[in-house]
Amino acid sequence: MYDVVIVGAGLVGASLARALSRSDLELALIEPAPPSPPLDDWDSRIYALSPASQAFLERIGAWEAMDGARLGPVRGMKIAGDLGGALGFSAYDSGVERLATIVESGRVQHALWTLLAGQGNLRRHAPARPVSAQFQPDAVVLTLDDGSALRTRLLVGADGARSWVRETAGIAAKDSSFGQLGVVANFSCERPHHGTAFQWFRDDGILAYLPLPGNRISIVWSTPEANARELLALDPVAFCGRVAAAGSNALGALELLTRAAAFPLESLSTAALIAGRVVLVGDAAHVVHPLAGQGVNLGFGDSEALAAVLSARGPLRDAGDALLLHRYGRRRAEAILAMRVATTGLNRLFSAQIPGLARVRNAGLALTERLPVLKNLLVRHALAN
Ligand SMILES: Cc1cc2nc3c(=O)[nH]c(=O)nc-3n(C[C@H](O)[C@H](O)[C@H](O)COP(=O)(O)OP(=O)(O)OC[C@H]3O[C@@H](n4cnc5c(N)ncnc54)[C@H](O)[C@@H]3O)c2cc1C
Repeated sequence: MYDVVIVGAGLVGASLARALSRSDLELALIEPAPPSPPLDDWDSRIYALSPASQAFLERIGAWEAMDGARLGPVRGMKIAGDLGGALGFSAYDSGVERLATIVESGRVQHALWTLLAGQGNLRRHAPARPVSAQFQPDAVVLTLDDGSALRTRLLVGADGARSWVRETAGIAAKDSSFGQLGVVANFSCERPHHGTAFQWFRDDGILAYLPLPGNRISIVWSTPEANARELLALDPVAFCGRVAAAGSNALGALELLTRAAAFPLESLSTAALIAGRVVLVGDAAHVVHPLAGQGVNLGFGDSEALAAVLSARGPLRDAGDALLLHRYGRRRAEAILAMRVATTGLNRLFSAQIPGLARVRNAGLALTERLPVLKNLLVRHALAN
């Protein structure tokens, strides 16, 4: 009998497994596509990790396992509205060393996966995926596609936005498409970025330049599907020209390092985080618009909270105990709701074509810029999540 079986070894599931591997719990982790060693090329899937996520990864030993030369500290942030409104943040003014760190998804995933090898209380099943689950009063019995059967006190769904665990446990989810794609690509830039992240709220979407080490940046351009398709069809020179112009040539000419790719942008909310002996974490539990770059930060928050609740339970206590799980649910409810309201609201505010609204949203940015107390509150909130 396992105490905890985690389905999905993405960043959230793997970090949870690592955090729990130091407890007395018996664990299993199931993943159909284990990560391969990263290539030298820069990953076009990157994340802006908050200092809170960094601290969590440090505590579980994953931060040191990554190559420091590939991490991009963000020391400043410049946000521009579509009619000249502007807002700026700096680590220096906020009294912190950095506002965020840009990391490559594949490298974090591989670091976590490698750390999980050889943990005595953890069994990795990979490549494997569950095919059926039986929910009993005192356990969940999972059958995998390799024929093995696992009996566990607690089943954790960390299997992403299309979660099999969520569906099998009957937890209702509401997903809605923003009708946008996130176009991502990496570039070298003519002028140094000095660790500054830029974000432009434009009438054709939201464009972010995120600083990578050296004179490199990664972009995420959240834009209506038709515009995204047009961008993807451009030849590299024309694409670089469009991205540089859309970013007001802030870093001079751009040169493409990795081909552009695109992800559909969706939001997803679930009716509950818990059902009986099943609990959800990460994108299985919530998907938010990437404009604030907070999806994986929110997921690491889930991982950390669930690991804390499970590790602090008494030695004889059942890991699937309803009171324990509800403690996790209560701890996460506010952070998840706050992020959803903020990201969906900002996206609506800047994508709505209502006369006069453009002036209001730009005035809002300019006003926030002139209110140091409010700015400071925003930074503190972003650092802590
Ligand atoms: C364009 C774009 C940009 C983004 N930028 C940022 C950013 O800057 N910062 C940020 O914080 N977030 C960002 N996000 C969000 C971030 O990508 C997600 O929040 C994060 O990857 C969620 O991690 P996860 O481990 O919960 O899920 P996933 O990464 O989806 O991992 C799920 C895992 O489960 C496995 N799996 C799937 N099905 C099964 C199954 N049936 N059985 C077993 N295993 C299964 C998968 O193989 C995978 O390993 C961005 C998203 C997009 C689309």
